[in-house]
Amino acid sequence: MVNQLLPDDADLDNHITVGGILNSRLTRAELTVLMCEDTRRARSGELPEPRVVVSSNGLVIAKYHQDTAFKRSIDGADIVDVDGMPLVFATRLLCKTPLRERVATTDFVKDASEMAAKEGIRFYFLGAQGDVAQIAARNLQRAYPGLQIVGTRNGYFSLEEEAALCDEIVQSGADILWLGLGSPKQEAFALRNRHRLAGLAWIRTCGGLFDFYSERLPRAPQWMQGVGLEWLFRVLQEPKRLGGRYMLTNPVALYHLMTKTHD
Ligand code: UDP
Repeated sequence: MVNQLLPDDADLDNHITVGGILNSRLTRAELTVLMCEDTRRARSGELPEPRVVVSSNGLVIAKYHQDTAFKRSIDGADIVDVDGMPLVFATRLLCKTPLRERVATTDFVKDASEMAAKEGIRFYFLGAQGDVAQIAARNLQRAYPGLQIVGTRNGYFSLEEEAALCDEIVQSGADILWLGLGSPKQEAFALRNRHRLAGLAWIRTCGGLFDFYSERLPRAPQWMQGVGLEWLFRVLQEPKRLGGRYMLTNPVALYHLMTKTHD
């Protein structure tokens, strides 16, 4: 499919512990190539189940140490990438070989879309309210002509509906399921349903991604992302919903970052 250098198994097994969570060291570019290679493997039946790819940030670290079901979901994922500049700073401070970069899902989706449009990799968007995922799909298709998004659906459904929903996703011919249900719902859904999604290459959790790409919510300016303040921008936008959340979790995340980050 692609001729670029693939991350070999050594890279995939090359981990770093950040705030107590085992994270991948893959960069955005390496993950993009892996997505391509996994799609080839899934289409030829070499991947029995989709790979579950999730992200870590301060909220995830705090929840990981407080909620055993959530910890099980994160530990059960195949790849945990680091979506949070403060986490990258912690590795610079505490590790011999720090992380090379942050893998922000909102940026990674651009790399992934560009590659997918070129290689014919098909996406499915599941999550967010109303037609937000559909609008996000349209916007990304406009930005990446040729990108195939073979289905979209909002993220509000019951446990009983999941089996039929998974059938629908498999039938759509999707390779990559982008799953934006927020934490811990999306991680639990991924682990609970991966066996129903055989044939897909990846289940990629993506939090509020569809809200950003539907332009329902603006993204933090570049300088705030760079200095690790994207979370503050989000709090200022939605103080009622997110203020308490970050005030409670930031000190907890900081404690785990300082005491449980190592090569
Ligand atoms: N969401 C959903 N189904 C649910 C609960 C939430 O689709 O049952 C969506 C919600 O509409 C939003 C996204 O999940 O688009 C996650 O939002 P949040 O910002 O809380 O997630 P984070 O990025 O912090 O993980």
